[in-house]
Amino acid sequence: MITTLLVANRGEIACRIMRTASAMGITTVAVHSAVDRDALHVHQADQAVDLGGVRASESYLDINRIIQAALASGAQAIHPGYGFLSENAAFARAVSAAGLLLVGPPAAAIEAMGDKSAAKALMAEAGVPLVPGYHGADQSPQAFVEAARQIGYPALLKASAGGGGKGMKIVQSEAELAAALQSARREAQAAFGDDRLLLEKYLPRPRHVEIQVFADCQGNCLYLHERDCSIQRRHQKVLEEAPAPGLSQPLRQTMGQAAVRAALAIGYVGAGTVEFLLDERGDFFFMEMNARLQVEHPVTEAITGLDLVEWQLRVAQGETLPLGQEQVPLQGHAMEVRLYAEDPDQDFLPASGRLQLYQEPPLKPGQRIDSGVREGDVISPYYDPMLGKLIAWGADREQARRLLLDLLKRTLVGGIRSNRRFLQRLLEHPAFVAGELDTGFIERHAADLLPPVESLPDAFWEQAARQFVATLPAIRRGDDPGSPWERSDGLRLGLPAATRLHLQCNGEQRVLYLGASQPAQPTALAVRRGEVLYVQWQGELHAVRQYDPLTEASGHHLASGGLTAPMNGSVVRVLVSPGQQVDVGAALLVLEAMKMEHSIRADQAGTVKRILFAEGDMVSEGSLLLELEPG
Ligand code: ADP
Repeated sequence: MITTLLVANRGEIACRIMRTASAMGITTVAVHSAVDRDALHVHQADQAVDLGGVRASESYLDINRIIQAALASGAQAIHPGYGFLSENAAFARAVSAAGLLLVGPPAAAIEAMGDKSAAKALMAEAGVPLVPGYHGADQSPQAFVEAARQIGYPALLKASAGGGGKGMKIVQSEAELAAALQSARREAQAAFGDDRLLLEKYLPRPRHVEIQVFADCQGNCLYLHERDCSIQRRHQKVLEEAPAPGLSQPLRQTMGQAAVRAALAIGYVGAGTVEFLLDERGDFFFMEMNARLQVEHPVTEAITGLDLVEWQLRVAQGETLPLGQEQVPLQGHAMEVRLYAEDPDQDFLPASGRLQLYQEPPLKPGQRIDSGVREGDVISPYYDPMLGKLIAWGADREQARRLLLDLLKRTLVGGIRSNRRFLQRLLEHPAFVAGELDTGFIERHAADLLPPVESLPDAFWEQAARQFVATLPAIRRGDDPGSPWERSDGLRLGLPAATRLHLQCNGEQRVLYLGASQPAQPTALAVRRGEVLYVQWQGELHAVRQYDPLTEASGHHLASGGLTAPMNGSVVRVLVSPGQQVDVGAALLVLEAMKMEHSIRADQAGTVKRILFAEGDMVSEGSLLLELEPG
């Protein structure tokens, strides 16, 4: 029996696991890094252990410290969540060696699926259909040239040890192959410390359809239907739904049975996901198996009414699966979006900083939020910037979609950029409404989903000014609430009341005059946090502040945000030199942070005055990178 559980993770998934564990009467133990001392998952746990360290490698990925924490806290079991150590066979072994239970598959099953090439060989044996391709041991360029000739172009190179869409290269013709092999090898070596590659036929417009499987220690294995995760950006999931729109019952069954064969072939135990690509003809191909609970598991919970974490814990303590395949429910439709701290207008650059405004709305039936943050939290650049997931269930797809849109619109995020508006546009897109799903969706509709940033219209400024005044905190004098000195509506004796306001928003400044006699306008949603007013305008929250015209006039300009480092990282390339003329939007410098490259672009046209860092330098968030002389 598990009476105390250590959750070796952070953020929304740590909170989600502890919610079920707690409901089962299990004592929960959180672990945290130095920067996460005050994080939500720490507050929600019954006990917490400080791992120290900041980076994941010094905290959530430190096998020894986590096992010591489990032993010291009296936990019998460790739940790894997803990411971090969840698919690390060495960790699974170390957990058993310490006499603890891992809520997850046996180390051998993790190993069998950890290598994409080896997994494919196993799946071929088990009769699971594979994407035509090459996953052999011979890594010579000639072997790849021959394989590509056989399967035809376009082809896709993948890292055998890959994950998270990293190290993948599309090759259009034989002429491109040699260079693509070299660059994919370099990327694979850098990301995974393993440069082995495999080659697949690149399928045109496939859907990503994955099957949730569950196995117990008694040899039973079920499929809990499928999820469609075709809405992806750079091969990473953005929105998931269940069931897959338009999937026929016979195909569901065929795919489900193939997934169960895959799990049984490797002696799988617990929750797992078998990922397939589905083509237009209804043929499906094995991609990989994820040996853990997935981010998108809530949509499966919504359509089956099951709690997958409860099942994981029960299976881990040796219980038998409570249902037979025929009894697994499939009701209605569910959808999930991943809410990220990132900037869609800057190529989805991860955002870090303080979450000044964060409000989750009261939930309607069918709505669910799995989040890991609170208002006031600092989103650090060290970990994945997902704030949480919004989920909705409805009797059919359209109802689920509307409920999710409603939930998204009422969830407020301010002080940090988020993909909230982008997700809203996705859910509202006619092609999405029509269920026209494939993995190229976002790219194909990028113009609609990421329209150019427009400057804010007069009507916005008027609303902002009105709300700014209405929400000014009253300076309470206590003795006379009726005193005219308490009023903030610009009362002038003998004259119509008028207020002059200097407001700034999105780098623009305006002087606004408000007369008390102006007719009331339909009011935009506005929430004040200290000096800042967040005004909702066409689905987007804008931060409005007052500025001081005197400071402005004396030449103390506001720091223009574009030229400071948005996060901790290193300078990988400097693209300009001092004295150079640049246009607005020109790329100036490339920063690498969290294994991704981000361009720093000119926020105005001008001349490069000074460059403060050289290639290879480390920079910390907020440091000035480069000075531009406007004009
Ligand atoms: P990773 O493990 O890095 O996430 P996957 O093998 O799971 O990589 O693939 C991620 C995504 O890349 C898939 O969901 C799909 O959108 C795309 N993809 C992968 N293989 C192919 C292929 N052979 N043809 C077309 N798209 C593919």
